[in-house]
Amino acid sequence: MPTEPGRPAPTPPMAATRARRSVLIASSLLASSALAGGLLVSMPADAAPKAGSLTGKTVFLDPGHQGSAAGHDLAKQVPDGRDGKKDCQTTGATAVTGKAEHTINWDVSQLVKKALEDKGAVVKMSRKDDTGWGGCVDERAAAASASGAQLAVSIHADSTSTGPDAAKSGFHMIVPTLPIPDKAVDAAQSTDGRKASNTIRDSLKKGGLTPANYLGAVDGIVERPDIAGLNLTRVPLAFIEMGNLSDPAEAAVLSSPQGATKYAAAITNGIVKYLDGDSAPANPTAPAPAPGATPSEPAAPEPSEGVDMTGLEGLGPLIDKITKAKSADEAQKILMTEGQDVSSDVLRSMLSVVYALFGGELPV
Ligand SMILES: [Zn+2]
Repeated sequence: MPTEPGRPAPTPPMAATRARRSVLIASSLLASSALAGGLLVSMPADAAPKAGSLTGKTVFLDPGHQGSAAGHDLAKQVPDGRDGKKDCQTTGATAVTGKAEHTINWDVSQLVKKALEDKGAVVKMSRKDDTGWGGCVDERAAAASASGAQLAVSIHADSTSTGPDAAKSGFHMIVPTLPIPDKAVDAAQSTDGRKASNTIRDSLKKGGLTPANYLGAVDGIVERPDIAGLNLTRVPLAFIEMGNLSDPAEAAVLSSPQGATKYAAAITNGIVKYLDGDSAPANPTAPAPAPGATPSEPAAPEPSEGVDMTGLEGLGPLIDKITKAKSADEAQKILMTEGQDVSSDVLRSMLSVVYALFGGELPV
């Protein structure tokens, strides 16, 4: 049943939250400098890098839209990267759960940021919080281009209607129509940008998330000429539309801590694979299948080096399982017996952020 717009997602009873919290503290899964007195006080924009498999790598994360225009003119005309102009920014969508897209994008980006930093990467953000301004689309592209990042990732969620629209669902990656007028942008997006998009697409699928069944998406890929970020960014950019916030089921998942964690884990997985040089082919010129043709098969899983991807890909099911635990004891047992591989590292990284972002409500 659709949730009424404006009504926040239901929250678990406080007693249950407290019990669950104590389980996680007992199992040492919450030890993190991100927590201060049980609540996140502040998260530095550029945390000092830690040693890990991503040491020496930089990622630019762009959580789409912003908490406030803060006096800026959203309709100001800026370059669109195709010799035209477009609006500086938009406010973004609102989920049928009532949650704003900019906040959903922010929450997922914070989870991805923490997981990447815990693996040693430097993560630069397009905006520093979810309350203020984050720049026009061309300014964000310029910031990504100047960031020194090996990869930029824009995180968005789509909307097809102001009311419920359960017929359209699934994620898609937006890739630019080629060629892009700026030669440096074209070189970045037609090769590595497309590889990164395909790699993250594959990771979302492996994480149990479904490619979009609308917009003519082909295996989770939609080509568009009008995304300024893709037309202007000179480092490889993957542009993610995580799901349709008009679909009540998908909106509920994207609005929840466990759902956000699941998306973040899959996105992190794809970023790590790309940075490890274990990406899917760029395949930018693959023809779209003829109407009625059987959709192309997903790329076969490839062995990875350095990081145990089996564990990361198992994170979605693990989160589902923990979420469904009937008691604190059961949740603890699952974490201790099934969370011992690399997935527990990522889950630990993310749980501390989830805890802060969702007001102390853990996804278990
Ligand atoms: Zn958006």
